[in-house]
Amino acid sequence: MLAVIKEAQAPGLALKEIPAPKPGPGEVLVKINYASICGTDSLIYNWAPWAAGRMKPPVIVGHEFAGEVVENGPGTSGMRPGTRVSAESHIFCGRCLQCRTGRPEICRELKIMGVDRDGVFAQYAAIPERNIWVNHPDIPDQIATLQEPLGNAVDTLLAEDVAGKRILITGAGPIGLMCAALARTCGAARVIVSDPNEYRLSLAEGLGADIVLNPKVAPLKGPVLTATAGDGVDVLLEVSGSKGALRDALPLVTPGGRVSLLGIFRGEAQLSLTETVIFKKLRIYGITGRRIFSTWQTLSRLLSSRRLDISKLITHEFALSDFREGFELMESGRCGKVLFRINTPS
Ligand code: NAD
Ligand code: ZN
Repeated sequence: MLAVIKEAQAPGLALKEIPAPKPGPGEVLVKINYASICGTDSLIYNWAPWAAGRMKPPVIVGHEFAGEVVENGPGTSGMRPGTRVSAESHIFCGRCLQCRTGRPEICRELKIMGVDRDGVFAQYAAIPERNIWVNHPDIPDQIATLQEPLGNAVDTLLAEDVAGKRILITGAGPIGLMCAALARTCGAARVIVSDPNEYRLSLAEGLGADIVLNPKVAPLKGPVLTATAGDGVDVLLEVSGSKGALRDALPLVTPGGRVSLLGIFRGEAQLSLTETVIFKKLRIYGITGRRIFSTWQTLSRLLSSRRLDISKLITHEFALSDFREGFELMESGRCGKVLFRINTPS
């Protein structure tokens, strides 16, 4: 089969012809129809410090996909071949305290597909059956591929109720854009999105943002206070990983408001906690991964009922053999989600 592999401890990836895996105990073999590039894959492509400190090549990369079951390994339940599936990319141990108390997304022994073990930028992948999510028949494979990052957006947005709330989203990357679309679906009163990238702001306008702001052009404060009758926003979703964005946006949260932090900061982010958090009685949530599988259930229902439409987020599609073009496009920021077409659905 064809696979995109991190071969050496250095920047770059390679397309190789290798034997398809055999499903081991508890695993099913999945034929991958579509996969999409995540920011994590870009870190691996560029061999950023995070990837260099964690990965042990050779590893097949990629973890967002939709495909179909082709074979059951020993000790599995016997899934029907052809069942259309995606998967939770976080492989949890099932034994640690967090797993045993219903929070496997913060498993202490967490392994990530396409990082710590072989992933899905390949024609076939062997995946633990307990990580498999059976896709709703009304969700096309291209959209089903986005369920995994959409789960990040669901947990970021819905850490608390958002109906009637005014929301500021810093960062219009794929996850910020998903948050904007979801916020509208879930009844937010105002959705404000900031990003220095004009291309991404134009995507945000098409995906549900009421107001888009470029922090390079003007400070957020004036337009955010105008849009909220001087109150500030009820909810801040930090999904850029920019320390500057957090510093500028936190003072714009109204006292008693809520903040979700998903963006990954490089190094330490400094805040004046006393003034901006404590005296304002803010609630701050750290968000990681997705609740397994309640978040999947939520997003599957929103997509299959067409209450949520994120199709405009997919801006490009490439064959796996053109993977470099896809990664370069991600680097440029002139894209939403970039998909790889890998096998033809049966
Ligand atoms: P992305 O890198 O594609 O998007 C980030 C966006 O933030 C970009 O469009 C960028 O232009 C914008 N940005 C940069 N500086 C900004 C500023 N000062 N103000 C506003 N926007 C700014 O990333 P993504 O895939 O959408 O993911 C969003 C963030 O979430 C990343 O930091 C990623 O590492 C993180 N992440 C965390 C988890 C988790 O489990 N906690 C999971 C997935 C992604
Ligand atoms: Zn665990």
